[in-house]
Amino acid sequence: MSRIAYVAGRYVPHRQAAVHIEDRGYQFGDGVYEVIAVRGGHLIDEERHLTRLHRSLTELRINSPMGDGALKIVMREVIRRNSVDTGIVYLQVTRGVAPRDHAFPKASKPVLVVTSRRSRPPDPRLGRDGIAVITIPDIRWQRCDIKSVALVANVLGKQQAREAGAYEAWQVDMAGQVTEGTSTNAWIVTADNTVVTRAADHAILNGVTRAAVLDIIHREGYRLVERPFSLAEAKTAREAFLTSTTADLLPVVRIDGMPVADGKAGPLSRKLRETYLVHAAAAA
Ligand code: PLP
Repeated sequence: MSRIAYVAGRYVPHRQAAVHIEDRGYQFGDGVYEVIAVRGGHLIDEERHLTRLHRSLTELRINSPMGDGALKIVMREVIRRNSVDTGIVYLQVTRGVAPRDHAFPKASKPVLVVTSRRSRPPDPRLGRDGIAVITIPDIRWQRCDIKSVALVANVLGKQQAREAGAYEAWQVDMAGQVTEGTSTNAWIVTADNTVVTRAADHAILNGVTRAAVLDIIHREGYRLVERPFSLAEAKTAREAFLTSTTADLLPVVRIDGMPVADGKAGPLSRKLRETYLVHAAAAA
C-alpha cells in the first residue's frame, strides 16, 4: 500500500512529499512537532498533545496553521488514508518558507506536515525484563520544554546509546542531575517507595505520557515528589523507569552497565506500566 502524507494543504504520495529548500524548519530547525500514538485507529491523549503543540508554537511565536477542529480532521484523514490501526501520527509545523535570514520573515505562512505510519508498541519483553540506559552530558539548549524539531543533540545521544547496546541515554546537567532521556522522561523510585521525577521546568519536555503517569500515581495514591535527582541517586535507586509516547513505560534495569537494585524490573514500575497500558487501551 502506498503511503500518503499531508504537506502544506495537500495529500500527496509519501514518495513525492517534499518541502521547499528554504523552509525554516530545514534551514534553522525553526519549527515544532508532536508524535501521537494511534491504537485501534484512535489518537491517544490527543488533547494533551494539542495543548502542548499550542504551547510550543506560542513560545516560538509561530502562528497555528489551522484551528484544532481542522487539525483533527487532517490527522484522522492521514490515519485513514494510510490504514493505520496501531502506530503513530507525526505532526510538524515550521515557521514557513522565506529567503534565508535568521530573524523572523515579515510574512511567512506556517507549513504543516502530517504523516502516519504503522508501528508496534515496544516488545512486551522489554516491559517485563526492562531496558538499559547509558548517561551522557546534557549539551542541549535551555528551552527543552519547547518540542522543537532542532534535535541534533538528542540524535547524537540516542546514537551513542544504540552503539553502547542501550535503549536510551539519560542526560545529566552540569550540577550532576538527570534531566531526561533523548526522547523519554526519566523516573526513579527511592528506598521509601517514593516516585521521583524532575518537575516540568525548562530543562525537560513535559511529556504527555509523563502527565498520564502522574495522573495514575495521584489516583492510586502512590508517594510522589517532583524534583531533580542526581545520577548517584539514580544508580542507587530501588527502581527506575522511563516514559514516552512510543516507549509507553519501560523499567530501567541497568544504568551505565550497572544493575539498578537487583537488575530486575521493579514491582512499582511494572504496576505503573500495566495501569498505563490500560489507560492507553481505554482511550482507543
Ligand atoms: N523528552 C523528550 C526530549 C522527548 O523528545 C520526548 C518525546 O519525544 C519525551 C520526553 C516524552 O514525551 P511524550 O511522553 O509526550 O512522548
